[in-house]
Parts: sequence; structure tokens; C-alpha cells
Amino acid sequence: MDTIGRRKFLAGSAALLASAAAGARAQQAAVPQVKAQRLIAVEEAFAPPRYFEEYLKIARRIDTPVSRYLKMYYEKPAVVRQLSDFDVRLADMDEYAVDMEVVSITAPGVQAFGAELGSELAMLANDMLAEQVAARPTRFAGLAAVAPQSPDAAAREIERAMTTLGLSGVIINSHTHGAFLDDPGYAPIFEAAVAFDAPLYLHPTFPPDAMLEPYNDYGMMGALWGFQAECSLHAVRMIMSGVFDRYPRLRVVLGHMGEGIPYWLGRLDNRYQNIRRRGGFDALGITPLQRLPSEYFQSNFYLSTSGMNDHAVLNYCVERLGAERVMFAIDYPYERTEEAVTFIRTSSLTPEQLSRVTHLNAQALFHIAPADHPSAQG
Ligand code: MN
Repeated sequence: MDTIGRRKFLAGSAALLASAAAGARAQQAAVPQVKAQRLIAVEEAFAPPRYFEEYLKIARRIDTPVSRYLKMYYEKPAVVRQLSDFDVRLADMDEYAVDMEVVSITAPGVQAFGAELGSELAMLANDMLAEQVAARPTRFAGLAAVAPQSPDAAAREIERAMTTLGLSGVIINSHTHGAFLDDPGYAPIFEAAVAFDAPLYLHPTFPPDAMLEPYNDYGMMGALWGFQAECSLHAVRMIMSGVFDRYPRLRVVLGHMGEGIPYWLGRLDNRYQNIRRRGGFDALGITPLQRLPSEYFQSNFYLSTSGMNDHAVLNYCVERLGAERVMFAIDYPYERTEEAVTFIRTSSLTPEQLSRVTHLNAQALFHIAPADHPSAQG
């Protein structure tokens, strides 16, 4: 750990807090207790340079709100450097005392391409990531990209990632050409994820063509609203289709405090039971589940705080799901590291809850060695 960077950040953070609390009395007594907590951020984006080239080929050919959105990031050399240069990333981590990042391919990932190019880019990205993880195992862990366009190739890549490459799980950037993971054709991906103990990070992307049009106005197709609408739809489709009855050991991670679903759990159960009471399952094509929808969310899902630096929402998610289901994330480089770190360092959760959110859950889920483990002494 870069102690100078850590001290510099903590001093800056203390000054910021002091000024914030000047008029409103400090309720931030938790800060000195938590500043020593190991900090692991779990939704941190990267991509190899070739990835941007392939996207820009498409984005420059077709002018749509989505292609303009992509160009807004991918045509900026500074953003491409943040995403592809691990020294730039490390400097940012050191500046704000982030101990470790679980890094994964940026949205929209490799899924917008055809099966062949998608699989090729996934392997290229995974090789690059594995190299960085091997070089700095105390600073980086990685999630493997896969191309669900070819479910069998994706399953083989999960095996390669979890064995040869030493990665910690899989990221799927949500729908694939409009298909969601409840489609039975994706069974090989779930089988591999369960067999190799790979948590599946379901990261949002732009809504598929069938729902995109109303999101194209006001810049709503991206992270402002469309990502959440698309990804929550995807997760609820997985629950309602019985994916977790078929794969009870499957673990799914959602960013952005659960894409709004924690707020909706009671209503999911209520409506599911209401339709069952009215005998409407067959007419509406509802699959009878072994448990209530919320129970899958509470036992098969984990959340990260990415881009949702809101203490009230964090407290609500911890209350609703338990501190053992929530993990810290920044969403680098799309969100500011300073803001995310200040947010978590000023949380009013108990030190015990906070230690789960800052590192214990990530260590357990992604098989990351504890900081005091011999293999973590870098
Ligand atoms: Mn993200």
C-alpha cells in the first residue's frame, strides 16, 4: 500500500468532512474507526485498446444516440487511457487509498459483436486482465468476459478463466442481441459458472432494440436511466423464469445498489401471489417457482454500490438484504474515485457491517486472499 497516498487522501477527506459538518454537528464518529478497513472495489471497468477500435468502427458508421454515447467516451484519449492503462488506474487507486480493484470489461462488452469476434475479444481481454492480476495479485482481481453469442465457447472460457487464468468470476454485460439469460440456450454458461464456482456479474447495457426507442430521448439510453431499466428487467426475468430453481448455487452480482430491485421486492411477491390466487399463471405464462421472487433475490444475489453514493440507499439495502450481500464499488472511470471513497468512509454503518461491505464479502465471493494472508503480502 502506498502509505503517502493513503495519508494524503485521508487528510483531504478529513478536511472535506470537517467543512461539511461545520454547520450541522459532526455525526461522523465512524470515520476514524473505519479508515483502516481494507477497501476492495468490485465494479471497475477496463478494456484492451483493440476493443475501442472495434467499437469505433461501428459507432462511426452508424449515427444513433447509442453510437454518440459510445463516442463520447471512446473517442477521448484520456478515457481510453484510464480504461486500458493499469498504471493510470493504480495511480488513481493510490491517490484515494483503494487497496484493490476487481476489474472487468467495460459495458457494452463483447456482446454487441458477432459470435466469432465477440469470443476473440473476450479471450484477448481475459489474457490482458490475467497478466495484470498475476503481476499485482494484491491490487487486482479480475472477472472474465464471455461472449454468450456462442454459449459453448463462453462455457469453455469460464473454465479457462477460473483455472488457467486465475480470474475470480464472470461478467456478462446483460442482454445479447436482445436475448436474456433466461433463454434455455444459455444453460452451458450457468453450468460452467456453477461447476467452476464463478459468480456472475450482470452489468447493465443499453436497452435492446425492442425497447430502445423511448429511451433514445434526453440521453436516457445509458446510465442515466436505460441501463437500470434494462438490467433490472434482465434480473427479474432470470428470477421469474426459474433459473435459480434450476441452478440454486448460481450467484449473481448486480451493481448500482441492485438496479432498483431492493425497493421492489415486496411488490414482486405481492403481485406473484395475487395472480396465483386469481388462477392467472397459465394465462399469463407465469412459471410456478419453488420460492417467492424476493427469496431468490435475498439468497442468490449480491449488490454493489457502484455509482450510487447515497447513504440512505446503502442503509436501506443493508437493512433489506443484510450487510453480507452488499459490496463497495466505484465504477471507475465513469464515476469519481474520490466521491465513492468519501461516501463509504463516511458511512454510518457499524464497523462490523462496514467491514463486510468494504472487503469481507468481496474476499469470500471472489476468493480474494485476506490482507494478512501470506499470499497477499506484496
Ligand atoms: Mn459499471
